[in-house]
Amino acid sequence: MLNDFNADDVRSYINGKARSSNSQSDVLSPHSGEKIAILHHADSKLVAEAIAVAKKAQLEWAEIPAVKRGEILHAACNLIEARAEELSSLVALEAGKSLQSARGETTGAILCGRFFAGEGQRLFGRTMPTGTLNKSAMTVRQPCGIAALISAANTPAPNFAWKVFPALICGNAVVLKPSEDTPLSADWMARALVEAGVPAGVLNVIQGLGHEVGPLICEHEDVDVISFTGSTRVGREIAERAGKSLKKVSLELGGKNAFIVCDDADLEKAVHWASLSAFSNAGQRCASGSRFIVMDEVYDKFVNQFVAKAKSLKMGIEDDCDLGPVINIRQLNNMLSSIDIAVKSGAKLLCGGTRVDGVDLGKGYYLNPTLIEETDPNSSLSTTELFGPIGAIFRVNTYEEAIVLANTSPYGLTGTIHTTNWDRAWTFTKRINTGVAVVNAGTFGSEPHMPFGGVRSSGNGTREPGTEALDVYTELKDIYLITEPGRL
Ligand code: NAD
Repeated sequence: MLNDFNADDVRSYINGKARSSNSQSDVLSPHSGEKIAILHHADSKLVAEAIAVAKKAQLEWAEIPAVKRGEILHAACNLIEARAEELSSLVALEAGKSLQSARGETTGAILCGRFFAGEGQRLFGRTMPTGTLNKSAMTVRQPCGIAALISAANTPAPNFAWKVFPALICGNAVVLKPSEDTPLSADWMARALVEAGVPAGVLNVIQGLGHEVGPLICEHEDVDVISFTGSTRVGREIAERAGKSLKKVSLELGGKNAFIVCDDADLEKAVHWASLSAFSNAGQRCASGSRFIVMDEVYDKFVNQFVAKAKSLKMGIEDDCDLGPVINIRQLNNMLSSIDIAVKSGAKLLCGGTRVDGVDLGKGYYLNPTLIEETDPNSSLSTTELFGPIGAIFRVNTYEEAIVLANTSPYGLTGTIHTTNWDRAWTFTKRINTGVAVVNAGTFGSEPHMPFGGVRSSGNGTREPGTEALDVYTELKDIYLITEPGRL
């Protein structure tokens, strides 16, 4: 294992050192409900210390040429790759996933890291013409300063890479607050980066409960930019706090993503992608498909096949399993009560809707893959992100109805259509009111070099990762140079 890393006892990591706290809680395995580690909760003193350390370290980090910063980040990616199995095991343990899924996430994190390490060779501004003789104009990118990064639990390793690598390549110092449900991998990854050459103090991790330490970090006067991935509820709260001090904020929030099945769709493919969209990673993706909008002519056939597929899925954390548990008991109970309310309000449960029982999985936070026939697009089930293996299915008569219904949502993150008609497909990509539009595949599947983000309640207009993330973590400066040819 990495220097001083202790998977049983997770503490904040400040200036290259683990820092204990008196207040602690247990980290529980989503698969078994058993304790896997102790989590130390940072207090206001530790938060202030981490930010002070970051402030000091940032100046020197920003002085290192971006190309050299990139070399350090490349070395970090190589180190993570060489010890990938350690990271994958931690992710599998803390997030309740198969080792195979966790390995995929480790690979995704490395890909993202390498993309941003390479940006050290490109971190360019623009040269521009001016209206004045003997004047040159250009823009350059400068670091924001201290980046407060708050991440979600669903895919912990890519979530770390998605924020930390772009923030660092741009010359910022980082104070990262990972989810309290998945603190182990963030601790490990931060140590890996420091071991690879990122100066201690440039990358600090504050561990603890979001509602306790999150506001302390976001409100600190020395934090220059906040990047948050998580629920829309917390995102709103952060935006309000940041607004008071006019901090720069990037919000990557929830989704209630539409999956349209047209009457000309390849149904076998549609069912395959519908199942992955709704149930892979136990539906814990901001880009999960959760509203299935199906045209009348193929409705019964599609729904029968989709329900049969959902019932056939294997649950657990073995490599051949289709889905694992949800992240914690609170989320599971919230899902169960939302299903209950939907059914009591007239929606029809087609499959699932219950917690898995039995000796093997009964102690974990497993929800049977759930499909519900819904008719009210304004119901709580239709408009609330549940972040679990739950899909609501709607029947529509026409293509037009499908598009209108897909856009009837407070969210606007992703959407997909299944059709063999080019005009329907292309028109969909223009009319769907989301940040991501997909034809004939799942609602998820973003790549590290592509800008990801949503509209309306899914975000605040920023895009990460991709080169667009550089806009989040840098400030542009205009530079004007005036020459005097008369002095030649
Ligand atoms: P969450 O909002 O409960 O928590 C996210 C993070 O915020 C955690 O680190 C948590 O500790 C912290 N936090 C909690 N309260 C806080 C507060 N008051 N101030 C500051 N920080 C606080 O979300 P979650 O359950 O961990 O993750 C699921 C959510 O994340 C879903 O809504 C999902 O759609 C979203 N998500 C979005 C994207 C995207 O790119 N759009 C990607 C992944 C997940």
